[in-house]
Amino acid sequence: IVSEKVAIIGSGVIGQYWAMIFASGGYHVSLYDIDQSQVSRSLTAVKERLERYEQQGCLRGQTSAAEQVVLISGHTNLTECLKDAIYVQECVPEVAELKTKVFEQMDEMLSDSIVAASSSSCLGPSMFAGGMKNRDRVVVAHPVNPPYFIPLVEIVPGPWTAPDVIQKTQSIMRKVGQSPVTLKSEVPGFALNRIQYSIINECWNMFKEGILSAEDIDVVMRDGLGPRYAFIGPLETMHLNADGIVDYCKRYADGAYKVGQTLTIPPVQYDVPTA
Ligand code: NAD
Repeated sequence: IVSEKVAIIGSGVIGQYWAMIFASGGYHVSLYDIDQSQVSRSLTAVKERLERYEQQGCLRGQTSAAEQVVLISGHTNLTECLKDAIYVQECVPEVAELKTKVFEQMDEMLSDSIVAASSSSCLGPSMFAGGMKNRDRVVVAHPVNPPYFIPLVEIVPGPWTAPDVIQKTQSIMRKVGQSPVTLKSEVPGFALNRIQYSIINECWNMFKEGILSAEDIDVVMRDGLGPRYAFIGPLETMHLNADGIVDYCKRYADGAYKVGQTLTIPPVQYDVPTA
């Protein structure tokens, strides 16, 4: 059991999963929300889920569900929740004004060594932390739902995020068994959604052109690319599909370029299907 404390701000879907993940790594977890009834509901949900996962054999960490449950406490007082925390994971709804307000509330309470991470899916730190005195302590650590079973975390620094904040976030994520990747700067969609939307754009274009049915598009992914990418990434695939990546490029770059030339630009706006 580590004696360090992590604070979680917002105890909804993602806040609850983070509480379970940090407790599985042995951290003391303070879970904060705006009203006591939500805090109580979340603590009950977390306890029930940890016990169920233990029975089902999918509990994370080296300790029992009961040992993990006692590490998690609920709070409606922000100062008390943040006291002595080495790391904060904000999980309030994805509304820039609300995140700005919550980070402003926390600003005076942040120490020089703390990490204040946001679970934000789309908003980079500059969209909610720019006016803070301690904006150098803020970073995005974006999980993928459900983070208890999907380890990827996208670490996205703002223009002023301190290097030690990025390193500490990487380190704590690895300690609790998540798999962090670090972007150099804020880009729309971060990494996962940029790749995901490239795929969706082409699926949409093929469907619109009548080249593939909707069912067959899903088969291409489910029974083709999906199983492959569940085990190895696209660059590893290139490396293994030839005698290394240079050989792959020699063999296939021309073909890939020609196919690339036929890809249509992403639609500015999706046509919403009528039926
Ligand atoms: P949610 O609506 O389930 O939970 C939000 C919680 O924040 C609620 O319990 C609410 O009471 C609380 N809250 C509201 N105002 C607050 C305040 N001022 N101070 C403290 N708590 C407050 O939302 P969620 O799905 O858990 O999403 C949280 C964040 O995680 C969002 O930024 C979202 O984009 C991101 N995220 C969500 C998912 C997902 O699939 N749900 C995946 C990755 C990232």
